[in-house]
Amino acid sequence: MGLRLIFLGPPGVGKGTQAKRLAAAQAIPHISTGDILRAEVNAATPLGTQAQTYMDQGELVPDDLVVAIVARRLDRDDSRNGYLLDGFPRTAAQARALEQELAKTNGPIDRVLYFHAPDDVLVRRLSGRRGCPDCGADYHLTALPPKVQGVCDRCGGSLTQREDDRPEPIRKRLEVYRARTRKLIDHYRSAGSLVEIDSTGTVDEIAAAVARSLET
Ligand code: AMP
Repeated sequence: MGLRLIFLGPPGVGKGTQAKRLAAAQAIPHISTGDILRAEVNAATPLGTQAQTYMDQGELVPDDLVVAIVARRLDRDDSRNGYLLDGFPRTAAQARALEQELAKTNGPIDRVLYFHAPDDVLVRRLSGRRGCPDCGADYHLTALPPKVQGVCDRCGGSLTQREDDRPEPIRKRLEVYRARTRKLIDHYRSAGSLVEIDSTGTVDEIAAAVARSLET
């Protein structure tokens, strides 16, 4: 049986990068509500159109929309054998909805990994972040630059900056994290499933800490 994991932490902490690696290594689906929502926005679906205003401003998309996305995704066959939830739950209501969903179908969550780093590190990471819209590869202007400026090493695509990685939405996202998401840490800590991951180091250092946290 594969692991059932939640990755929790502020924007810019590196959850997504670690989630992609770990999910691939463990052969479990990487379920990122941010990625799913961005795909809906790009495809200009009704859901994407509804979500976009919230996302561009760094606000949370309403719980009912996000919960429906996750419930549908967890219903798919490939989620029966474990999964990694990245960026969900983000509110107390989402955490409750997830628990109800898991009681019906899947078993309980095995572990919640809580990634943390100081605010100045988060802001630096978010503002320098670039991505390839074609293949999904992640870059950073200084920490993980592409070989040729603005061009994806892997597929040659043109790198872009997320709309919400600009100063005002970054400020808003950190504020929303502190007001809504941070309290989930105590919820999962008291449930005994929380492991803290210091995420100030390099991608490889954090990946090593993630691997250690799953050994015990
Ligand atoms: P992320 O890629 O996780 O940084 O998410 C980008 C944006 O998608 C967030 O700022 C929210 O607008 C929206 N979003 C992603 N996940 C959630 C969630 N669990 N609840 C509400 N909004 C979300």
